[in-house]
Amino acid sequence: MTFIRANKKFERFEDVTPDLLKQENVKLLLCDLDNTLRLHSEKEPADELQDWIEECKAAGVQIVIISNNGRKKMMQRFCEPIDVPCVWWAKKPMSKKLNEAMREYDIPRRNTVMLGDKWSTDVLAAHFAKIRAWKVNHRRNVV
Ligand SMILES: [Mg+2]
Repeated sequence: MTFIRANKKFERFEDVTPDLLKQENVKLLLCDLDNTLRLHSEKEPADELQDWIEECKAAGVQIVIISNNGRKKMMQRFCEPIDVPCVWWAKKPMSKKLNEAMREYDIPRRNTVMLGDKWSTDVLAAHFAKIRAWKVNHRRNVV
């Protein structure tokens, strides 16, 4: 039996640098939201997230947020200021929304990566979509 593993692991999303994305030929970066790009409790995008998104865009990488979170209004409010398309209630590990994003932006699998904090949703969804999975450590509130 083959174990399904993330292809790369990072501490935080900021470790996925534009240079690395270029080096790895990533044109479409599908991102989980909760505990990947933000703490579950964060209502607005943090400065470091805004900066990172800008840098990725400047490097020519399309970002799409693909979340299992079903709170549409909250997601729209969060994603609007960073001007990133978002998909809510994606039902990962089902790969449907990942496939739809690749079709919509017309970017092949080999140039697409799913970035997320959870094996059972993000890594598996990437596996089913036949794309690379990059995993970040689950973000927690610091008390
Ligand atoms: Mg998550």
